[in-house]
Amino acid sequence: MAIKAIRGFKDVLPQDSTRWQQLESTARDIFNTYGLKEIRTPVLEKTEIFARGIGEHTDIVEKEMYTFEDRNGDSLTLRPEATAGIIRSVIEHKLYAASPFLKLFTMGPMFRHERPQKGRLRQFHQINVELFGSASPLPDAECIAMAWQILRSFTDAKLLLEINSLGCPKCRPLHREALVQYLTNAKDQLCEDCQRRADTNPLRVFDCKNEECHRIMRQAPLVKHYHCVDCATHLGQVLDFLELMDIPFVQNGYLVRGLDYYVRTTFEIKSPDLGAQSTVAAGGRYDGLVKMLGGPDLPGVGMAVGVERLLLLTPEAEQEGIDLFVAALGREARETVTPWIAEWRRQGLAVEMTWDDKSLKAQMKQADRSGAGLVIIVGENEIDEEEAILRDMETKEQENIPFDAVVNRVLEIFE
Ligand SMILES: [Zn+2]
Ligand SMILES: [Zn+2]
Repeated sequence: MAIKAIRGFKDVLPQDSTRWQQLESTARDIFNTYGLKEIRTPVLEKTEIFARGIGEHTDIVEKEMYTFEDRNGDSLTLRPEATAGIIRSVIEHKLYAASPFLKLFTMGPMFRHERPQKGRLRQFHQINVELFGSASPLPDAECIAMAWQILRSFTDAKLLLEINSLGCPKCRPLHREALVQYLTNAKDQLCEDCQRRADTNPLRVFDCKNEECHRIMRQAPLVKHYHCVDCATHLGQVLDFLELMDIPFVQNGYLVRGLDYYVRTTFEIKSPDLGAQSTVAAGGRYDGLVKMLGGPDLPGVGMAVGVERLLLLTPEAEQEGIDLFVAALGREARETVTPWIAEWRRQGLAVEMTWDDKSLKAQMKQADRSGAGLVIIVGENEIDEEEAILRDMETKEQENIPFDAVVNRVLEIFE
């Protein structure tokens, strides 16, 4: 029996890879305009990084990580998100020493053992941005702007940007206290998971999909009612900058995100067209995380775009044809055209020829499939006459060109 890919792991097939490339290059172009540099970190890290970075009591760390012992008995984990590994690298290489600000992006696969469904895979891909070194509201707004720009340049679907602030170590404990009190009173009505979360990680209860929990949380105390002056000012300024950048948003006091490390700004960009898994991009501020992972007290803010979900909202890419197809009949003809093709390719033309002995009819069929606008035909007659046939696939017009002129003639056409 043939072996299939692992459940929740998906191939990107040739007919789809064009859109991936377009998305990646659009994102790179956008990041260039913001002065970002690329960082590439390993997909495998010590488990500790994620347990400490994401939080022991998050769904990700409790249930979703691909964690295993390697042959040395070290506990390793396939990264479930990008931030913790990037921070590990920033600290390890002291990247903060060279410049007060670090503007980084990365792209690649992340791994979470969740139940696969539409828009949710176990190996999924993200485009990530991490901006370190400033506690100002401007990097928050720039982060959101980059996410928005990438999404908008790839889809016409309806997008909704929701923003919240989770407060800071000064004001957050006050909210937590009120929330824990509220949850304790409502405990019998919460689902089993949330009864546990009420003690370990009360904010998570806002994320519960259970209808009863959802109803109860509608009345729960919100962080925004406990914001200190600095947090309120910060949020206000982020929103001001977004307005100045002409990015539409709504405030959502219930938005908390599934990661422990967020402080202040947190955001999601959703599309109602996606159904249950509607979040296409998300992120937030994580001041304190670099320090917690053993580095200096470097503030940071980041975002991630979900590649698969964004592509679900994107119309299929048109398949681009090659420039030129060469139909050569027989060994002598193939040898005649080989140096021509080599030269055309050196000049940057996309050229294909048939590898095997095929009839002219079969080769013309292949030429058609290749999407080439022009075909060069060299058969026995052409060898005798030392003239190649140049055929325009659209107009069906043909012309004969002497062998010694054919290379330049084709280059002229594509100049
Ligand atoms: Zn605060
Ligand atoms: Zn619940």
